[in-house]
Amino acid sequence: MQAGRLIVLTGPSGVGKGTLLKMLLQRHPELYLSISATTRQPRHGEVNGKHYHFVSRQEFEQMVTQGEFIEWAQYAGNYYGTPRSAVEQQIKQGHWAILEIELQGARLLKKTFPAALRIFILPPSVAELEDRIRRRAQDSNEAIAKRLASAKTEIAAADEFDIQIVNDDLEKALKDIESTIFAPTNY
Ligand code: 5GP
Repeated sequence: MQAGRLIVLTGPSGVGKGTLLKMLLQRHPELYLSISATTRQPRHGEVNGKHYHFVSRQEFEQMVTQGEFIEWAQYAGNYYGTPRSAVEQQIKQGHWAILEIELQGARLLKKTFPAALRIFILPPSVAELEDRIRRRAQDSNEAIAKRLASAKTEIAAADEFDIQIVNDDLEKALKDIESTIFAPTNY
């Protein structure tokens, strides 16, 4: 059996990665979405085991020690990590696994999974992104400030990725992602 692939989606907070991913998975249910572990508090409506595995810092640190993540990072004061076993199993079975992670984790994966296809989602402009982050208003002012600072660092690293896609129109951005992922040259 042909081994599967790893697809990594990165981009600053508020760029619309979550929405794009949801649309992508609706159209391509064969893609396996990795559920990350995080020490962040659940937001309203988030379900443990569906959106994230919500764990304590102690549990997270233990998972790190036991090598249970293929990558992990600290972001805006919390830990986030991709559980190793589910992703490796899916790839072994020939499936395509997709991760939605931040910059440091994506950098790590370039070393540990060099064959991964890494896609960076850009906002139409930084001003627009700031607007979106503030409008979302699900986070405290402090968390918003941290996310804005991280967003600028992340955007500056977009060129490190295999491909950059600007999300100025959801449908168009989705088509660009699809043609990148399913391009014959990527097989
Ligand atoms: P949020 O708190 O808004 O759900 O996520 C904050 C950031 O963490 C987002 O950029 C998201 O892509 C990233 N993230 C989510 N899961 C992981 C993970 O497993 N590893 C890494 N490195 N980043 C993650």
